[in-house]
Amino acid sequence: MPSTCRLSVDLDALARNFHTLEAVAGAPAHPVVKADAYGLGASACANRLAIEGARTFFVARLDEGVALREALGAGPVIYVLEGCYGEGAGQLIEAKLRPVLNSPQQLSTWTASGGGEAGLQFDTGMSRLGFALSEAPPPFPGLRLVMSHLSCADQPEAAMNEVQRRAFVAVSARYDGAVRSLANSSGCFLGSHYSFDAVRPGICLYGGGPQGRPDPRIAPVAALTAQVLQLVSISAGTSVGYGAAFTAERPMTIATVGAGYADGLMRINAEAGSVIVASQQRPLIGRISMDPRR
Ligand SMILES: *Cc1c(COP(=O)(O)O)cnc(C)c1O
Repeated sequence: MPSTCRLSVDLDALARNFHTLEAVAGAPAHPVVKADAYGLGASACANRLAIEGARTFFVARLDEGVALREALGAGPVIYVLEGCYGEGAGQLIEAKLRPVLNSPQQLSTWTASGGGEAGLQFDTGMSRLGFALSEAPPPFPGLRLVMSHLSCADQPEAAMNEVQRRAFVAVSARYDGAVRSLANSSGCFLGSHYSFDAVRPGICLYGGGPQGRPDPRIAPVAALTAQVLQLVSISAGTSVGYGAAFTAERPMTIATVGAGYADGLMRINAEAGSVIVASQQRPLIGRISMDPRR
């Protein structure tokens, strides 16, 4: 029997989240659709977001950018966050993708390849990708975007947010006319002084809350459904699943659901999770298996 597990994606909820984030931030949202739109399907999600008014998108890698260009057609702007590596420049130009340049080397590769429009990323505290503030290059004709990335946006109290915002204000002031962007999803909720000219939401578009837990302002987008394969009555003292991680304290009826880590659920002790069975929320027990047959 094939897996009974299905992931469904509510594109109307995706659209609502897009408009919510633009309203909260008070700035245009440039959706981040990297990693296949966080697993929900980059082509379907980006096409719907384009219908909702999104004009600029971000992906992480060149190959994602090439696929997204094909899915979206010629109109939208697509930025590639990894920037520009060696032979990649030709493919970026061919697919009309804009690299987010992260270092002096990337900038010279891009210019030497005859590349035009591009963005610049500065490292204001994340220490991942980006120009050091001390290496800020002079403005160049194709520059369209100046951005940085917050490391603690999901912690509104963190002093780091203001440190990064100030550094970004200072460095971005050198690039007149470029779109300035700092905020990811959580950053949209830090106040409009974090929004600048455009925000770059990812997780909140897809239903994740800005602080790592569900939030009433964000509509769920993904739903996982599966069949109940078996119902069993067990007595007090009976253990359940690998590692006998759960032991019944009283007689109970348990359901085995046809979904596991083969379907992408995490292989964890399941106490934290729950499942809706016949419209009622029920706790998960024991450890998530690969699938119920393994
Ligand atoms: C992934 C990413 C985002 C989106 O982050 P979320 O927290 O998912 O909203 C924005 N900007 C950059 C540079 C990213 O790498």
